[in-house]
Amino acid sequence: MKNLARILACCIVFLAAAPAADSPALQGFSTDSATSERAWESKFKAIPGTERLREYMQRLSARPHHVGSPYDKDNAEWILGKFKEWGLDAQIENFDVLFPTPRERAVEMVEPARFTARLEEPAVTGDPTSNQQKEQLPSYNAYSIDGDVTAPLVYVNYGVPADYEELEQMGVSVKDTIVIARYGGSWRGIKPKVAAEHGAVGCLIYSDPHEDGYFQGEVFPDGAWRPRDGVQRGSVMDMPIYPGDPLTPGVGATEGAKRLPINEAKTITKIPVLPISYGDAQPLLAALKGPVAPANWRGALPLTYHVGRGPAKVHLKVKSNWDTKRLYDVIARIRGKEESDVWIVRGNHHDAWVNGAEDPVSAAVAEMEEARGLAELVKQGWQPKRTIVYCVWDGEEEGLLGSTEWAEAHADELRRHAAVYVNTDGNGRGFLQMGGSHSLEKFMNGVAKDSQDPEKDYPAWKRLRLSRIANASQEERDKIRNRADLRLGALGSGSDYTAFLDHLGIASLNLAYGGEDGGGIYHSIYDDFYWYTHFADTDFRYGRALAQTVGIAVMRLAGADLLPYDFTDFTDTMQIYVEEIEKLWKTKHDEIKERNKEIEEGVYVAIADPKKTLVAPKAEEVPPFLNFAPLRNGLEKLQRSTVRYDKAVQSLALGQKPLDDLNRKLAQVERALTLPDGLPGRPWFQHQIYAPGMYTGYGVKTIPGVREAIEQKNWKQADEQIVRAGKVLENEARVIGEIAGEMER
Ligand SMILES: [Zn+2]
Repeated sequence: MKNLARILACCIVFLAAAPAADSPALQGFSTDSATSERAWESKFKAIPGTERLREYMQRLSARPHHVGSPYDKDNAEWILGKFKEWGLDAQIENFDVLFPTPRERAVEMVEPARFTARLEEPAVTGDPTSNQQKEQLPSYNAYSIDGDVTAPLVYVNYGVPADYEELEQMGVSVKDTIVIARYGGSWRGIKPKVAAEHGAVGCLIYSDPHEDGYFQGEVFPDGAWRPRDGVQRGSVMDMPIYPGDPLTPGVGATEGAKRLPINEAKTITKIPVLPISYGDAQPLLAALKGPVAPANWRGALPLTYHVGRGPAKVHLKVKSNWDTKRLYDVIARIRGKEESDVWIVRGNHHDAWVNGAEDPVSAAVAEMEEARGLAELVKQGWQPKRTIVYCVWDGEEEGLLGSTEWAEAHADELRRHAAVYVNTDGNGRGFLQMGGSHSLEKFMNGVAKDSQDPEKDYPAWKRLRLSRIANASQEERDKIRNRADLRLGALGSGSDYTAFLDHLGIASLNLAYGGEDGGGIYHSIYDDFYWYTHFADTDFRYGRALAQTVGIAVMRLAGADLLPYDFTDFTDTMQIYVEEIEKLWKTKHDEIKERNKEIEEGVYVAIADPKKTLVAPKAEEVPPFLNFAPLRNGLEKLQRSTVRYDKAVQSLALGQKPLDDLNRKLAQVERALTLPDGLPGRPWFQHQIYAPGMYTGYGVKTIPGVREAIEQKNWKQADEQIVRAGKVLENEARVIGEIAGEMER
């Protein structure tokens, strides 16, 4: 009897779910609700306007607007005013955070010749905002510790751990030196961290023209690339430990919050650090002797790159005002009508290092047009099923301050209510860029298929797929061709989704268009309206496309009968991660074994040129075998639950009865991937599948507990972490299985 009912139910659902010719099926929507959804979506798509995007950008980027500046507050209040004007329920939430700004900065060469670095970006004729020196933050790295040091200089390439291994083989020690690293290869905050771990006393970071200057193209104002005196500002806070206010880890920086003394804040650098231009770096690098830098360490300056150490000797001085500054987060809500306690949170930051037309204003204006579009729909009678929360963050640039403090202050509510967080941060011409939780991969593919690319007469999805095929290896190409969905990139850190995903375990997306226009104005005074309207999405068509794409994602997430998570792509991705990790161990194992053998054979002695220094590596302990069974067991349970869930969803009658109970449970599924005590040495990072790497910064490490233990050759920890990651996959499998069970009832 039960079976017969099931079969009949299946037939009815099959008929009901068969898409009408004019309305293809929408994941999570019944046929009727899909038809209505598509009608509202086409009304929405017509609303965002390119002229408005241009106007907003001109207004928001008219003056420098970093945290604590008058125009930062002014912008927040202007955005609030717009939200209210459009009829949204909006307010500003404040937090008070530690934000150092420079008081003294000096970089001088004292030997073998004297040279004083300019440390200044000159105004450019014709660029009307580049001369606002009075309001501009000088070029510096925020959260560098104060210091005054004089020491020999060493060139360390990108300054990542592998570079120091090469230096060791060259017989060059950085102990008690100032290192100079080029931008690239890692997030900037990793450079002073690794330098300090190797005993350096100071760190300079410069933009080499090879990656960011004339080697790439004409420089500003003739072209889009970084000019000789352009400097990349940026935070060097040790965000892989925890982002946000260094004084209030884990809690919102509200008025009454308990604050650490500054000298106990773990995320401030251990040595002073300053960013410089290639104009300022050139004389320093030219004065280095010692070994010639390896071929892949050389940049595009007209000199022979040497490593040092010395004879160049440098004086570096950094002193900041360690002030508390106020943050202005703009928060607006559209209340859901049926499941108002399930939230879709949407965010982009409004603060910038200087004028910030590209970062972040190009995407903040799209978010505003998107919010205006939804507010317009509300006036026409639309109301989402779930509550939508629009957030425009302050203090992203310094260390994800505004989003982290807000997420920490509202952690309990967010854990209970938030289903998805959708982030953007900068936009340009080109291809759709999609990163996020893999439970949203299928969903995001659906949105991309319904997003029109402004430059081609077909969907953004198709253009992205073809561009991936063009850029892939032969083996990868066939995989792309044979897979229904395009893969989402896993999220590390580097923007405001971090607290939502990594700390709270809320499924997240990070979206943008880009890839066609390069440029070298990142975090400089030249990232402004003039640059953007000459060298980027000059007609704002991609700004409009971003508003449309993300708006549709938000509408679907907030309106679907059943929250559109899918676990097939998630499970498939987890299988790849598990295989990668097993391979990582194998590679390490084989490498160390081989190197030990070569040391025994005398290979290093034989190839050493007696006229050059080559320090042979030392024999190492061969890695023990690890027990990957807990991960494999977790994966298998996940695979079984996924199959069961898929079947259950297919036989679920959408649009027949309210599914609010199921949706509330589904909103919690990503939470099962977290553990309350977090990752080794960094409890704030609770997600066990995605995290920024301890030594990559923004770059993601998937199943980070295990992966990093293997990378750091900590075999005992690797074994422990395998057990924990396996447990998390089992938790996920159990939660998905329970929901499937309820659907079957
Ligand atoms: Zn940004």
